[in-house]
Amino acid sequence: MSRTVYFDYNATTPLDPAVREAMSPFLNGVWGNPSSVHHIGRQARALLDDARERAAQVLGARPSEIIFTSGGTESINLAIFGMARSLKSKGRHLITSSVEHHAVLHCFDFLERHEGFQVTRLPVDSSGRVSPDDLARAMRPDTVFASIMAANNEIGTIQPLTRLGAICRNKGVVFHSDAVQSFGKEPFENIALFNADLLSLCAHKIHGPKGAGLLCVKSPLRPCPLLLGGSHENERRAGTENLASIIGLVAALEKFVNPPVFDPSHLKPLAQKLIAAIEKTDGCDLVSPRESCLTNTVSFVVSGADSIALLAGLDMEGICASSGSACSAGSLEPSHVVVATGRTSVANSLVRFSLGRENSLDQAEFVCTVLPEIVQRARSRRQPPPP
Ligand code: PLP
Repeated sequence: MSRTVYFDYNATTPLDPAVREAMSPFLNGVWGNPSSVHHIGRQARALLDDARERAAQVLGARPSEIIFTSGGTESINLAIFGMARSLKSKGRHLITSSVEHHAVLHCFDFLERHEGFQVTRLPVDSSGRVSPDDLARAMRPDTVFASIMAANNEIGTIQPLTRLGAICRNKGVVFHSDAVQSFGKEPFENIALFNADLLSLCAHKIHGPKGAGLLCVKSPLRPCPLLLGGSHENERRAGTENLASIIGLVAALEKFVNPPVFDPSHLKPLAQKLIAAIEKTDGCDLVSPRESCLTNTVSFVVSGADSIALLAGLDMEGICASSGSACSAGSLEPSHVVVATGRTSVANSLVRFSLGRENSLDQAEFVCTVLPEIVQRARSRRQPPPP
């Protein structure tokens, strides 16, 4: 294989050398348990407290509002299970959207199936966007909690969180947003931007380590803990803190969120080239919206082909792409996001290009050159055999 083109930055990003450098002392000399009372433990505690303050500073939150977790999935689980359970005496109706990541959807499914909650899953339009009017209409006297993502991982749609959050606030409904794909990709000043009471994010989408994330919880809200044991994280998440990963998360936040590491001025020309090629290729239909979409995300479907054949064809040319959420890649499940946009018949043919800082115009041009033939080959594999 002559070259590799990595177009899968929404799945994960490489660890930045400076972030690795910041983590390094915590994998070597600084190894104490922050809960120990002796001086080695106290040293680790001071560094953990400092990391929490630095994370709060980047986000514009209070240090006490930060809960360090093992990543986006855990932050989301803690927000949804934790708040639903802590609010259940007030009501049992919950709201989410049909295009959330499985880390969100499966929590709501579980609460509905096993814990007596009722869930409304809001529809989206053809660009994957939730309508604030639909959210307002879905509100009931017993609605207590809603969760809508900031930006979609499969097709890049940015949700109108300012309006969605305002509707929740007016109704006294606690609002969470999965902002895993938004950090480092969209302009950011502070978390007020999201208009949410709880916000989930992780490090590995912004050149930080895998297995590190946080949940920011506006005080005085208190999600019921999922992990019980010691009194870590102010009794909201038991378990000895992974200091090296926490330091990596904080370093990535400080370095890559403001300004966003996914620089639109670098990525837009690349994305535009890809979009032009997709639109010219027979059978391809762009799914990522033209407006209010992550600049780095260009997703399309192909009639008469399936994702596996398309991704294999791309991979043979050295191009790493995805069929959507990395967690469901490899399975032939149709994309629930594409289904929700109304394209059910082609939902098993999604291809996602998600670009990042190491990509070049030359790489985008190469992909545009080989794309038509890869698409044609994948489509011909699905043609019925001659009688
Ligand atoms: N939410 C979204 C929108 C994601 O894209 C992902 C990961 O792909 C997650 C949640 C899960 O995050 P993590 O991989 O840190 O568990």
